[in-house]
Amino acid sequence: MAVKNRFAELHDDITAWRRDLHENPEILFETHRTSGIVAEKLRAFGCDEVVEGIGRTGVVGVIKGKSTASGKVVGLRADMDALPIHEQTGLDYASKTDGAMHACGHDGHTAMLLGAAQYLAETRNFDGTVVVIFQPAEEGGGGGREMCEDGMMDRWGIQEVYGMHNWPGMPTGSFGIRAGSFFAATDQFDITFEGSGGHAAKPHETVDTTVMSAQAVLALQTITSRNADPVEQIVVSVTSFETSSKAFNVIPQKVQIKGTVRTLSAEMRELAEKRINEICNGIATTFGGTADVTYHRGYPVMVNHDAQTEFAADVARSVSGDCVEAPLIMGGEDFAFMLEERPGAYILVGNGDTAAVHHPEYNFNDEAIPAGCSWWAGIVEQRMPAA
Ligand SMILES: [Zn+2]
Ligand SMILES: [Zn+2]
Repeated sequence: MAVKNRFAELHDDITAWRRDLHENPEILFETHRTSGIVAEKLRAFGCDEVVEGIGRTGVVGVIKGKSTASGKVVGLRADMDALPIHEQTGLDYASKTDGAMHACGHDGHTAMLLGAAQYLAETRNFDGTVVVIFQPAEEGGGGGREMCEDGMMDRWGIQEVYGMHNWPGMPTGSFGIRAGSFFAATDQFDITFEGSGGHAAKPHETVDTTVMSAQAVLALQTITSRNADPVEQIVVSVTSFETSSKAFNVIPQKVQIKGTVRTLSAEMRELAEKRINEICNGIATTFGGTADVTYHRGYPVMVNHDAQTEFAADVARSVSGDCVEAPLIMGGEDFAFMLEERPGAYILVGNGDTAAVHHPEYNFNDEAIPAGCSWWAGIVEQRMPAA
């Protein structure tokens, strides 16, 4: 392992920051305490500029190298938010807030990027400018999108962006990355079927919404099995089915179904939206009812750029000796918005043999800190080498 010695020295400090964040999780844009700590530390490290309130509760820090003659500006991004999960780790630094938990390791991401920022502000051994980006609301709130919409990329002239996520099941401190589509687009649909309800003993006098919507649930499965090219990845899951009646003898007036679509290309996303509309409206018409389809586009496909992916893998190899090809991941990632605005890459760092992310027994592995911090520092020092 070629981790930087300075991170071995800082390991205990960074671990303590991480555990404090773990104990005090905050959800979505409510990262007030976390953002405050991040801003305070960045100022204490001597960052040239620290700005709060980008993307509501996001924080941006700027660190200039010994020289900035290269004109290069690299953005490094971490997420800060927790999840609405009741923690069951039994740790002595477990969440003090019932119903909130750092179950995705964003406590570790924030602490590692803070560690890297401290090192970079101390050494400044690069020719260019680093922008450290701490975003709220990765878990479904689109905090990354809001930071972009606040003009972050242009305001600081960011030319490339890099991100990192811990990954349970990969050896601690090892790396994995993938060029091109990496994390899925995460969309939602909400469909209301309407007929004319009535007495369950007189179905012929009704337009039965339960039969109609049950047909639709089955037909929606054909988007994946019959419409999509078999070599493409697409998931269509119906996750909620609710009728407007609680009675056993009433045919309900309305049925609402909800679900999610996961895709890895713009084409598959278009296909899913189009076919959901066609199938639900077609079936409703067939049965004499109506369908009101709402398709909500969430995070886009997260696409790693080729050149930056290759560079990020090289840096990972210089830290850990290897960097494997990561599999496609059907989960979503808000960093996708930043990668739509600027070229860059997102890497996975091994969290060892722990519970999966979003599990109530998950915990970020502090042993991954030196590797993660060294990768951040390597991105800067190797992308913008000091003259
Ligand atoms: Zn997550
Ligand atoms: Zn996460």
